[in-house]
Amino acid sequence: MLIDAHVHLDKYGDLLDDALKEIETEQIFTVATAMDVPSYLELQRIAERSNLVLPTFGIHPRRAADYANRLHEIGRHIETSPAIGEIGLDFHWVKDASTYSAQRKVLEYFIAAAAEQNKFVNLHTKAGEKEILDLLEKYDVRRAIIHWYSGPMDILRAMIDYGCYFTIGVEVLYSHYIKSIAKAVPDHLLLTETDNPGALRWLKKNDEIGMPAAIKDVVNALAELRQSTPDHVESLVQANFSRLIADDPWLQKIRDSFFS
Ligand SMILES: [Zn+2]
Repeated sequence: MLIDAHVHLDKYGDLLDDALKEIETEQIFTVATAMDVPSYLELQRIAERSNLVLPTFGIHPRRAADYANRLHEIGRHIETSPAIGEIGLDFHWVKDASTYSAQRKVLEYFIAAAAEQNKFVNLHTKAGEKEILDLLEKYDVRRAIIHWYSGPMDILRAMIDYGCYFTIGVEVLYSHYIKSIAKAVPDHLLLTETDNPGALRWLKKNDEIGMPAAIKDVVNALAELRQSTPDHVESLVQANFSRLIADDPWLQKIRDSFFS
């Protein structure tokens, strides 16, 4: 089974029906990450249409400033979410440094809740890699997916030692640095993502809308890079996701349906 462990399904607009159809046809297990509260509520509605879609609540670092004084509201939604994401820090693309303390406050609130409620987290780490690893250690959050890692190699190694999982996405098709990261992630921590529909558009600066089946391009690229086969990469990633959720108290139904 193909796994897309980080995707923004609520952003598909008119193409949502097509995207869901593709998810069903290709049997892609899909972790649908939220950007903020409205995004999460929309993902919950979308997930009613496919049991391959797992909607998760998070506040993206870009949106954190609007939520730093609404932690109570965040807390209510965390309770209803089986996993956490997208959360994180972004001190690179987010230029407005006045939001950084809000980003830190919101992220720490989520990490603490994830620890308390035993939920896995899906993290955006751009230029906050070391700080995020410190937080995971502080709260002993062991089940973490690092999405689209592009930071320094020494922190990558420290995250690997800690046991973080890494979703490699479509940039592996274009960037030498991402290829070197994709090679450095050990077999047992490798996951895949598309971060679509926007990832290709963002990378190629065009108006291309990334569809769910792009996950197959990622699998093929990983197979080539790691001198493996697409089938082997697919089953490796499936086994890894299965291990990530093996004792998850919130995902038993998903385990029984797709990963047993
Ligand atoms: Zn994302």
